[in-house]
Amino acid sequence: RRILFWNKAAERISGYSAEKVLGSHCHDNILNHVTEHGTQLCLTNCPLHATIQDGRPREAEVFLHHAAGYRVPILIRTAPLRDDNGVIIGAIEIFSDNSRLFHRVKRLEQAANLDPLTEIANRRYMENRLAFALVEFQQHRIPFGVLFLDIDYFKRVNDTFGHEVGDRVLQMVANTLRRNIRTEDWVARWGGEEFLVLLNNVELEGLYSAAEKLRALVKASALQVHGQPLQITVSIGGALARLEDDVASLLRRADQNMYHSKLSGRDRVTCDGEGEGRTDI
Ligand code: GH3
Ligand code: MG
Ligand code: MG
Repeated sequence: RRILFWNKAAERISGYSAEKVLGSHCHDNILNHVTEHGTQLCLTNCPLHATIQDGRPREAEVFLHHAAGYRVPILIRTAPLRDDNGVIIGAIEIFSDNSRLFHRVKRLEQAANLDPLTEIANRRYMENRLAFALVEFQQHRIPFGVLFLDIDYFKRVNDTFGHEVGDRVLQMVANTLRRNIRTEDWVARWGGEEFLVLLNNVELEGLYSAAEKLRALVKASALQVHGQPLQITVSIGGALARLEDDVASLLRRADQNMYHSKLSGRDRVTCDGEGEGRTDI
């Protein structure tokens, strides 16, 4: 495992000159590869060593120690080197700087979770959050609830002022929602003019008061259109997670409660247990 070749790219990525590296052993730990968990690879888990042992090529994403001290994400590929008789006499390790790929993957991940119009989370992201919250609840009894919000008479906004104004209304609502939930809560655009809020650690009372607050703040938001304030309202349905729930059954209750708010006049909140008896909320 003595290093016999070290090209310009390797110098650039690692900050170590060929002079410094050639002749040393890869287990001398200059490059000191670690995994994303910080586990050292050079002494016990070296892919190059493993390839020399079994002749199989390998690929791994690891982090090398740059001469200046910081960690660089690299993608490594190893392959055995054989002599004319096929006997393994060493191995070659090709590595490339993975930083750009790394950032691109991160951006893609974010983009995949974001609603482009409102720049809040999208449905896909919320579905994952909900599944996660449900597991937390069922295993550790951390209660949570959801609010289903639907803009009232939104079609009229589009019909009267045009689709572009409609889009600005959606952005306005999204901004009001995201700025007025707690840091442990989540909001997503669920579909067209529908939003979903996930509230962690709430009981019925907290769910209801959060819903009331959001309802009032959306109503008090206004978009300037041709110098005139344009205001809309939302109908909200809230539901608290139950132990026997799955994501679908929880959302169904919230949706039914939202529908109850629509039927009883819109610009209203209906939460679990209230939808049946109460119409005065
Ligand atoms: P209700 O009070 O019963 O909810 O009535 P509504 O008009 O809000 O409901 P409806 O489902 O009839 O209309 C929803 C409208 O939302 C229809 C659709 O064109 C519009 N919409 C959905 N997505 C977008 C969008 O991204 N931008 C705009 N501008 N409009 C959208
Ligand atoms: Mg709708
Ligand atoms: Mg609507």
